[in-house]
Amino acid sequence: MTTEKIPYKTYLAEEELPRTWYNVRADMKVKPAPLLNPATGAPMGFEDLRPVFCDELIRQELDNDTREIPIPEEIRNFYKMYRPSPLVRAYCLEEQLQTPAKIYYKFEGNNTSGSHKLNSAIAQAYYAKNQGLTGVTTETGAGQWGTALSMACAYLGLDCRVYMVKVSYEQKPFRREVMRTYGAAVTPSPSMDTEVGRKILAEHPGTTGSLGCAISEAVEAAVSRPGYRYVLGSVLNQVLLHQSVIGLETKTALDKYGVQPDIIIGCAGGGSNLGGLISPFMGEKLRGEKDYRIIAVEPASCPSLTRGRFAYDFCDTGMVCPMAKMYTLGSGFIPSPNHAGGLRYHGMSSVLSQLYHDGYLEAVSVEQTKVFEAAEVFARVEGILPAPESSHAIRAAIDEALKCKETGKEKTIVFGLTGTGYFDMVAYEKFHNGQMSDYIPTDGELEASFAKLPQVPG
Ligand SMILES: *Cc1c(COP(=O)(O)O)cnc(C)c1O
Repeated sequence: MTTEKIPYKTYLAEEELPRTWYNVRADMKVKPAPLLNPATGAPMGFEDLRPVFCDELIRQELDNDTREIPIPEEIRNFYKMYRPSPLVRAYCLEEQLQTPAKIYYKFEGNNTSGSHKLNSAIAQAYYAKNQGLTGVTTETGAGQWGTALSMACAYLGLDCRVYMVKVSYEQKPFRREVMRTYGAAVTPSPSMDTEVGRKILAEHPGTTGSLGCAISEAVEAAVSRPGYRYVLGSVLNQVLLHQSVIGLETKTALDKYGVQPDIIIGCAGGGSNLGGLISPFMGEKLRGEKDYRIIAVEPASCPSLTRGRFAYDFCDTGMVCPMAKMYTLGSGFIPSPNHAGGLRYHGMSSVLSQLYHDGYLEAVSVEQTKVFEAAEVFARVEGILPAPESSHAIRAAIDEALKCKETGKEKTIVFGLTGTGYFDMVAYEKFHNGQMSDYIPTDGELEASFAKLPQVPG
């Protein structure tokens, strides 16, 4: 441990930006289970996935063995526009909490898309472009992923078609306009553009859509149009791989000061930021070199790790995507309408699910009013207006720091601050007006959803 006072912000130099992504699967003794064909139940190989995904991304998806994968120079150059991202020592938050804990956060909100999603968006757009494709399709809920992908596509001159859940399209016009500024075609879903959209509209006239439905439309739009592929912003192995840049930078910065974390915390929706942040640390843990407590934080209203089943499930409600083995609440599970904190996906990355199942990862769930309380404490002392999703990690970090205060233990806590909340002010408004409530699904509700899990032999 150096005696030098650690700065508020540690910025790595440009040349310290990682040259390779780290693939944590290479160090896992039990590998994540393979994707299965939703129609036949057979494991999906390279050729099966080719109509939907870009070739190089499929290779990365299926590669459980290569530890280090080079980051192409073009992607590194794009990263240089907003990376390395700062690692911040939360001196002001420590002071506010009067805790002996040392708290650090890795801030991923310093780019226009406002979140870590750009780290994978640029990689996915790059491989699509490199394959000579014309464009990509995707879905977006609140709009962070769609925004990140539009930025990446604009940079590379790739066509970008985003199916945005209709209710968000109407209620979040600002994100939609950011996407259009970057040249993306944004279609409210369900739409009349696709067969699946027309079918859903015929069955449920006036529906405001869902993420599952938007995924089905985006996949159909990709496979039915030559020169297009579908891309996804979380959950998949390849996305965790790209996000490992977060953890690699964090580790380099901490190593410079001889700091070793005791606890690493991240919010978990589909698992990409958490998976990326923890990857190099998890690698050390898997190889038996070091030990860390690693905590995934999820909403109590969408508790896939803490209350879900570890089973094969559909990744989308339309059941067109491959099936993945993961902790899931069932593909038909929809969080209560009063849930405003994001992280509403029903499943969890197969990599994180396997690590959790094997005891390498802990999980906690937190209620949204507690999340927004933590967000406000953080905003007032650290200055950054956090995204509701990121605030789940803030909540858990504060709770761990308060435990340190009780026990007098000086633990080092690192958490991922995934993004900013400027487009989430309606949720903040609800909180300020005392109109935010907590809803925890009952066991009965979850059981009803589990009953619809697909039957997969073995
Ligand atoms: C999308 C998003 C998340 C959750 O996604 P993961 O894949 O679980 O990381 C968290 N924070 C922000 C700001 C996001 O935009």
